[in-house]
Amino acid sequence: MRKRRFGVSLEPELFEELERVAKAVGTDRSRIVSMATREYLADRFHFARQHPCEGFIIACYASGAKGEVDRLLEGNPLVVGRAHFHTEGDCCAEAIYVRGSSDSVWELHASMSRVCRHCRYVPVCT
Ligand SMILES: [Zn+2]
Repeated sequence: MRKRRFGVSLEPELFEELERVAKAVGTDRSRIVSMATREYLADRFHFARQHPCEGFIIACYASGAKGEVDRLLEGNPLVVGRAHFHTEGDCCAEAIYVRGSSDSVWELHASMSRVCRHCRYVPVCT
C-alpha cells in the first residue's frame, strides 16, 4: 500500500520519547505514529456509530472515590462483571466488563472518566 507523507510537529520531549521508543523496539517513527493513530482513532471514534456494544472499562482511581464508583456501577444493568484490585500506591484498579447499547456504554465511560484518574474503554465488539 502506498503511504502518504505529511509534516508533524511535536514537543521536543515527545519527539525524544518517540525516537527513543522507535530505537528500543527496532522500528521507525513513522511506524509508531501510524500504530498510535490507528489505536487513537479506534478508541476515540468507536462510539461514532450506534451498535450493540461490549468491552472492558479499565479504571484506576483513588481509594476515596470508591463510593462514587460503586454508585455508578452497582445495580447498573450494563455491568456484566467487575474485577477489583488495590495498587501499592493506595489506588483502586478495576476491569469492568460491560454490555449494552453503545450510547449507554459511552455515557457510563464518560461518568467513570470524571471520577477516575485513568479510565479507558477497550471494546471487544467490532
Ligand atoms: Zn462497541
